[in-house]
Amino acid sequence: MMADLRSLPQVNAVLDMPEAETLLARFSREEVVSAVRAEIARLRKALLAGDSSGPIGGTDAAFFEAVETHIDTHRLASLRPVINATGVIIHTNLGRAPLAPEAVAAMRAIAGGYANLELDLTSGERGSRQGHVERLLCQLTGAEAALVLNNCSATVVASLAALAGGQTVIASRGELVEIGGSFRMPDVITASGARLKEVGATNKTHLSDYADAIDDQTAVLLKSHTSNFKQVGFTTAPSRKALAELARETGTIFMEDLGSGVLIDLAPFGMTDEPVVRDVVSAGADLVMFSGDKLLGGPQAGIIVGQKDVVSRIAKHPMARAMRIDKLSLAGLEATLRLYLPPHDPRLKIPVLQMLAMRADVLEKRAYAVVERLKTAENVLRSAEETRILIVPTIAYAGGGSLPEQDLESFGLSLERSDMRAVDLARRLRGLDLPILGRISNDKIIIDLRTVLDSDLDKLVEGLLAALTR
Ligand SMILES: *Cc1c(COP(=O)(O)O)cnc(C)c1O
Repeated sequence: MMADLRSLPQVNAVLDMPEAETLLARFSREEVVSAVRAEIARLRKALLAGDSSGPIGGTDAAFFEAVETHIDTHRLASLRPVINATGVIIHTNLGRAPLAPEAVAAMRAIAGGYANLELDLTSGERGSRQGHVERLLCQLTGAEAALVLNNCSATVVASLAALAGGQTVIASRGELVEIGGSFRMPDVITASGARLKEVGATNKTHLSDYADAIDDQTAVLLKSHTSNFKQVGFTTAPSRKALAELARETGTIFMEDLGSGVLIDLAPFGMTDEPVVRDVVSAGADLVMFSGDKLLGGPQAGIIVGQKDVVSRIAKHPMARAMRIDKLSLAGLEATLRLYLPPHDPRLKIPVLQMLAMRADVLEKRAYAVVERLKTAENVLRSAEETRILIVPTIAYAGGGSLPEQDLESFGLSLERSDMRAVDLARRLRGLDLPILGRISNDKIIIDLRTVLDSDLDKLVEGLLAALTR
């Protein structure tokens, strides 16, 4: 039988019904109209597909319920908290570094009111937004001066615009990195108004390559940390000390984009690939830039430390003004940096470092505890035939383009339902009020416990139960 589309309700007729009036009292007309349209479209589709179970020729309670659900769904905040069970600690799609409670408290303290953002409370005169963190940064890195912008990409663009606009920047062919999110070093250099002069080969660049390329147009020698890949085999690059010396002799500026950049030595955790900012400064770099929300473990920010006169040239450039840090990030950054000072131990205070340092046997115990709790919930037992939960060893990563080769031994759960494919189970986990993001491997969902915050463990169990028992 042909579907009779004339039997579908008309938008205007629906809006005249008393049930619509109730909705119009609570929601805007635009929201109600758009939800009614969407619901009619759904009915039309069902009708064309041969399903005539809908309210043919009119509307019923279910119709209006669906309209209301539609509006409610659209009113849900778009940006929401999720549980990161991917095992990637600094996950850019999931907002990178979770903040320490101290940083959250500092942001909350100033968010709802006014603050002395650019006011010196002692003199009552105008103060500097940078003053709140500059001394801390100098203390933590050994640098003379510091400047904080919106993110690390901004620090590179603003620095090159201020120091090398219309001139050339020399960079090694082995370091012309692409970070992701369309941050490609050659494009960034061009966008800042400087010209790129590439030197060396992909795997080997010598000091003489830089020296031979320097002329009266050269403003900057740029070194970039190859943060998201690793070269092995026959590779050569000049030392920072040698590049710093060459820059000094030729009146150019040696700057290094560290990307992640760490403030403490991670070698005790077996991580040796990320340079410590202080070491780069003491090797003689004029400028060093790094992110606030990667291994530093703070809010989104880009940090420049280096020589006073060079930093102040950048600070005066309009780009630095356009890309300046906001007060909330600044408050979070200041509080995070204070956790690097005694009596604190940043490895115990900063979530990113805690996650990095967590031992595999601790994570294994955590996995057992989670499974125990899932099993004691009777619902799971009842549907046990279709649900398989196993404790499995996993590999976690630092992420955020840092420590790309560094596997972190971890533990997690492998989830499987006999009546559902992993992609469907994953969709269900994403659809929870507090979405759970795991990863899929061999048609199973892997919940890696290294990246689940302690404070989220209860909610993780609750969410898994909801997804597995429905
Ligand atoms: C991550 C990274 C950047 C970009 O930092 P954002 O804070 O994301 O803007 C730049 N350079 C390197 C080497 C990076 O690793």
